[in-house]
Amino acid sequence: MPISWTQTKRSSIVGLAAVLLIATLGCAFLVGPQFIRIGLIVVLLLLSLVVYRHSRRTEYECPQCHNIFQVSFFTDLLSPHFPDRKLLTCRSCGHTGFFHARARH
Ligand SMILES: [Zn+2]
Repeated sequence: MPISWTQTKRSSIVGLAAVLLIATLGCAFLVGPQFIRIGLIVVLLLLSLVVYRHSRRTEYECPQCHNIFQVSFFTDLLSPHFPDRKLLTCRSCGHTGFFHARARH
């Protein structure tokens, strides 16, 4: 499946945001006082746990081809989203849009 320019551009923006976030947290970790380091580790561990559980318990249905799929931990972490919708690309037909999340059966 060819990757469209829009997908490439969005991936770049998400990648840049992730790099900036990691760089900011890295700087805070390196130069910040002890309580900030411990706080960052605790927050990152809790965030990872919450995102991992969400990625395992949630599935998405493509509005175009009705393909049902799960997303990886990193997609769940980095993909733009609202409380009940996430910006995804269908692995089956390539449709890109906001997919409604639902509990996994
Ligand atoms: Zn689809």
